Amino acid sequence: MIERALVIGAGISGMQAALDIANSGYEVLLVEKEPTIGGHMAQLSETFPTLDCSSCILTPRMVEVGQHTNIRRLMLSQVTSVEGEAGNFQVKILRHPRYVIEDKCIACGACAKVCPVKVPSEFERGMAERSAIYMPFPQAVPAIYHLDRDVCEDCGKCAEKCPAQAIDYDMQPETLEIGVGAIIVATGYELYDGEAVQAYGYGSHPDVLNGLEFERLLSASGPTGGDVIRPSDGKVPKELVFIQCAGSRNPEHGMPYCSKVCCMYTAKQAILYKHRVHDGQVYSFYMDVRAGGKGYEEFVTRAMEEDRTLYIRGRVSKVFAQNGKLIVWGADTLTDQKIEIAADMVVVASAIVPSAGARQVAEMLDIEVDQFGFYVPSNEEMTPVESRVPGVFLAGVGLGPRDIPETVAQASGAAAKALALFGAAKAGVQ
Ligand code: SF4
Ligand code: SF4
Repeated sequence: MIERALVIGAGISGMQAALDIANSGYEVLLVEKEPTIGGHMAQLSETFPTLDCSSCILTPRMVEVGQHTNIRRLMLSQVTSVEGEAGNFQVKILRHPRYVIEDKCIACGACAKVCPVKVPSEFERGMAERSAIYMPFPQAVPAIYHLDRDVCEDCGKCAEKCPAQAIDYDMQPETLEIGVGAIIVATGYELYDGEAVQAYGYGSHPDVLNGLEFERLLSASGPTGGDVIRPSDGKVPKELVFIQCAGSRNPEHGMPYCSKVCCMYTAKQAILYKHRVHDGQVYSFYMDVRAGGKGYEEFVTRAMEEDRTLYIRGRVSKVFAQNGKLIVWGADTLTDQKIEIAADMVVVASAIVPSAGARQVAEMLDIEVDQFGFYVPSNEEMTPVESRVPGVFLAGVGLGPRDIPETVAQASGAAAKALALFGAAKAGVQ
């Protein structure tokens, strides 16, 4: 038994699993394809239903992961092959170069200031710019800059300015080969951006945002400092339309499943918008409200009653721009009336889909995925965090849409399974 775990993905789910295992005295290799840990939770403004500041509750966990002596973080990395069996897997991990020497960078930012390249920031969902050499966000862990060679113009200015001589343009990829006893897969999710949301103007009109983009607008650390303004002209939107189930529960577009968190984050975003724009009006088109969690129903009621969000049961047929407004055509299926709203901004609660690369991870590990690409446990009811491969456990939204508490609980469940495997070997139990 190799008493070391591999965790693939360093969002909240992978971080939680890594911490549980590390705190039990075992080594963890935490592999993440991005330059920082934190995942999508780092992009959220507040969480539901408590309205806690997301980064305030996430950042201490990130720091703990960053400082834990039992956790080895491998950023900008991907697992390329896995062989062996429970207790003795041999894995290969490809580490892409950061072009910044980790031990030397002091995160002073002098390099980014002189970098002439400006590209849309992935973390800010394109609503702010970053340099070719950058840190995704100020609380990133590790707090080390990353040089994106895909957009770098090789001008050499960053290396000239770096006071720590931390920049190494010649850094090469490296492959690590290491043994682990258990593997936890926590690869997370993306938001659907296909035809079903494009029909609402997403991708073609700057004032049609998806849920994560609106989170960044609401966030005090976001591109506008938490002011809700229209990307197109900087005006405060006074009429805001949410379209729930944008892609979800839509067999026509191949996503008949419920994305589970959209009803709740829409209610949260409606409340937070009203905190910022007191005289604004929110409309929310919904199919039916699914608020199945502790305090969730009351939270939606608060959005409806205290913040006067007008919930319209029905579907939107079309969104189009006209005279500086976004005209939303829909139908109220309760009153059987056609609805037209002249909105300033539209937010689509896009379907949750598995992260890019999840299928590849599944193939590599021989774990099952469903027709949508979500991982399938060996038994949905009785072994919800165990894959069909002994020693390979599953956690987080890669299994299907779920909220943060469920994600954290399942990550702890997956960690407990890995620890049980280590413990059984110690006790001599087969
Ligand atoms: S070498 Fe690349 S990263 Fe450095 S300043 Fe020039 S463009 Fe920016
Ligand atoms: S690479 Fe150099 S200039 Fe850039 S943040 Fe690190 S220490 Fe500062």
